[in-house]
Amino acid sequence: MTAFRTLEDAPLAGKRVLVRVDLNVPMEAGKVTDATRIERVLPTIRAIAEKGGKVILLAHFGRPKGRDAANSLKPVAVALAHALGQPVTFVGDCIGEDVAKAVAAARDGDVLLLENTRFHAGDEKNDEAFVRDLAANGDVFVNDAFSAAHRAHASTEGLAHALPAYAGLSMQAELDALSAGLDNPARPVMAIVGGAKVSTKLDLLGNLVRKVEVLVIGGGMANTFLAARGVDVGKSLCEHDLVATAREIEEKAKAAGCEIVLPVDALVAREFKAHAAHRAVAVGEVASDEMILDAGPRSTAEVVRRLDAVKTLVWNGPFGAFELAPFDTATVTVAKAVAERVKAGQLVAIAGGGDTVSAMNHAGVGDDLTYVSTAGGAFLEWMEGKPLPGVEALRKA
Ligand code: AMP
Repeated sequence: MTAFRTLEDAPLAGKRVLVRVDLNVPMEAGKVTDATRIERVLPTIRAIAEKGGKVILLAHFGRPKGRDAANSLKPVAVALAHALGQPVTFVGDCIGEDVAKAVAAARDGDVLLLENTRFHAGDEKNDEAFVRDLAANGDVFVNDAFSAAHRAHASTEGLAHALPAYAGLSMQAELDALSAGLDNPARPVMAIVGGAKVSTKLDLLGNLVRKVEVLVIGGGMANTFLAARGVDVGKSLCEHDLVATAREIEEKAKAAGCEIVLPVDALVAREFKAHAAHRAVAVGEVASDEMILDAGPRSTAEVVRRLDAVKTLVWNGPFGAFELAPFDTATVTVAKAVAERVKAGQLVAIAGGGDTVSAMNHAGVGDDLTYVSTAGGAFLEWMEGKPLPGVEALRKA
């Protein structure tokens, strides 16, 4: 049984259902250029409409300071109607008389999209009066925006306390995937943490060493750990001021019984550019004018070998500068090996946060892992072990 209230528990027929969705889609010249986020909210909209609820969508768009036509959700209503195959009524505000009238005029199963919640400062402030104004137009609240759940805003958290609140289908899928990743995983669990810098991932590493059996560290941040072990990393990206912190993380890992795996070899180059002249060397043999730009073949093979010994993988951050060939090799090789094991049913693999989604897509495995989270900041905060206010408000008593 899931720990959260879901659509299955929700009274929907004849109800005014306020649904928080993520429609923060990329847009150019008033046209939506990538409809992935729109696609993701369709099942929840359809499920509520089929059960006879009035679907009243709430979303933020961009970072407006007050009302601002450039951040209107109006063009998104057009794209949404197209994807849904059903009219979507756009209302030029998210609170007030106009919304009340439009909702009263709607029939059960109709879909409305209200204007950008962030046109009101009360949204990000989680202002009580603004929450009341939003809640006035609904009987039930459904949150389907995991990506905004790390923020305690009026439209994500405040409303969940003002109305009976439930997780939408994409929120539920995300929560189920995350639970299978770290909260309640099949063991042993491996985490891969790569990317540029240790400094952005201290909380994440601190949480993971307590939760996983094996922690593979890759990317630029591995250089700081190598330096902490006394390895000369030449001109590589390295936060020398954090070597003591890296040592502390190693100590914590040892105390928690978590094995840290660092690269034993690397692809090095003198220039940070695609197709730069490069060579594979043991990590102790990096010349003073060389940079580590990817994990080497021995390190990559070692990670792939270890995949067979674990049942669950949680992955954030690439092994190298994957935007620049051939320094994408380790990331792509490991991603493909992961996808094969997921397909064979021997591994549960959850990836997400920042550049990880584009790294997985670059490797051609975006649809082949158990779950790839596009949630960014919310995914990282979950990896850090922090409670997400928008999610906590949906927890069963
Ligand atoms: P993050 O957003 O922290 O996950 O970092 C992702 C970025 O780290 C990507 O843009 C990579 O190019 C970069 N990166 C990964 N490994 C290295 C490396 N060894 N040197 C420089 N940049 C790297």
